[in-house]
Amino acid sequence: MQRHVAILGAGPVGLDAALACADAGRPFTVYEAAGTVAAHVRAWGHVRLFTPWDLNVSDRMRTHLPNAPTGDDCPTGTDLATRLLAPVAALPALEGRIRLRTRVVAVARSGLLKHEQIGTEARAAAPFTLLLDTPDGEETAEAELVLDCTGTYAVPNTLGSGGIPARGERALTHRITRTLPPVHDPDRWAGTVLLVGAGKSAQTAARDLAALPRTHVEWIVRNPAPDWGAVPDDTLPARRHLAETSQAFADGAHERVTVRTGAHVQALSADGDRVRVTLATAGGPRAVVCDHIVALTGYVGDASLYRQLQVHECYATAAPMNLSAALLGSAGGDCLAQPAVGVDTLRNPEPHFFILGAKSYGRLSTFLLRTGYAQVDEVLGAYASAASG
Ligand SMILES: Cc1cc2nc3c(=O)[nH]c(=O)nc-3n(C[C@H](O)[C@H](O)[C@H](O)COP(=O)(O)OP(=O)(O)OC[C@H]3O[C@@H](n4cnc5c(N)ncnc54)[C@H](O)[C@@H]3O)c2cc1C
Repeated sequence: MQRHVAILGAGPVGLDAALACADAGRPFTVYEAAGTVAAHVRAWGHVRLFTPWDLNVSDRMRTHLPNAPTGDDCPTGTDLATRLLAPVAALPALEGRIRLRTRVVAVARSGLLKHEQIGTEARAAAPFTLLLDTPDGEETAEAELVLDCTGTYAVPNTLGSGGIPARGERALTHRITRTLPPVHDPDRWAGTVLLVGAGKSAQTAARDLAALPRTHVEWIVRNPAPDWGAVPDDTLPARRHLAETSQAFADGAHERVTVRTGAHVQALSADGDRVRVTLATAGGPRAVVCDHIVALTGYVGDASLYRQLQVHECYATAAPMNLSAALLGSAGGDCLAQPAVGVDTLRNPEPHFFILGAKSYGRLSTFLLRTGYAQVDEVLGAYASAASG
């Protein structure tokens, strides 16, 4: 008997998993919350990836789409969605298999509570039940193998010290942009923008906002001496330029960008149309009144989906425990140097439930598409070679 696979999320990794199932002749269904595939990638569609086409197209995708883009050019998110992921979703092999506007609300092991049948064959043999939100109301579905590829981009972190919301943040959440903003319209971003975060997303936003003539950027960075994730002898030019530009901003090279390192947001309050932000800085508290707040403090996947399953999350990263241990044990923050981990590292105590893609890295920001495609190989390859399939 071939296990029916439920693939949660039609991002790049979910779609690659779908192709792997189709190639193996395995029954599968992809559930996608949005009205289109690659919804998260489209949400940051204006951003240019720092990895080139050759790293962004999986071998499987290339076999099915021999004319998929190649080469050293780095696509934007929109390019990736429209020139690769939409054509993958339209392949005959995936026809009728992707359910759009279908959000997976929760996954359970049918008839078993989280604490029951720990490590038994009975648990492994029970199918999964998925609760779905569909345009026609709630539904349930069953599957024998579940791949959670729902990403992280919909669950942003908050602004305050230690990762909790700053005082006043929840009341003003509608005034905060928590995704990478397109900045084509200079009027939209005129005035003072308070930008928080130091990762690649914040660096990209700083670079783009700095180009707008009537925008002043107050850039708040927690680390007193950020290295901007710079990788020695970086072979990815776009990534290297971004780190260099951020360092130049920190060195005061741009008159409309003020970088405050060693600082964090303490409190927010409304000030007419503007927001007054109290910062804790090395020199003491400081107030900034701003017109916009862009919070790019990272993302972490939605754990509520598998709350009733036996998933062992790392207490530090929120990634599945074995994978987290492997990643924390490997050297450095260069995403190109991530270890190949093997299927056993991707397993959870819950049999036949896997977290793949960006979500599998929890709070770690070194995930690359090619890592996700390798995870798909590992997991579906293991099922292909197992007698119980
Ligand atoms: C701005 C930015 C730039 C990046 N640049 C690069 C780069 O240059 N190179 C690189 O290799 N990687 C890059 N990454 C990292 C990573 O490759 C991407 O985040 C990638 O989109 C991850 O793919 P994914 O399939 O794991 O998840 P996602 O692309 O996040 O897809 C998840 C899908 O699941 C759907 N979904 C969510 N919840 C549910 C639910 N409950 N039920 C059903 N569907 C659901 C979403 O709508 C979405 O379509 C970047 C990430 C960001 C945010």
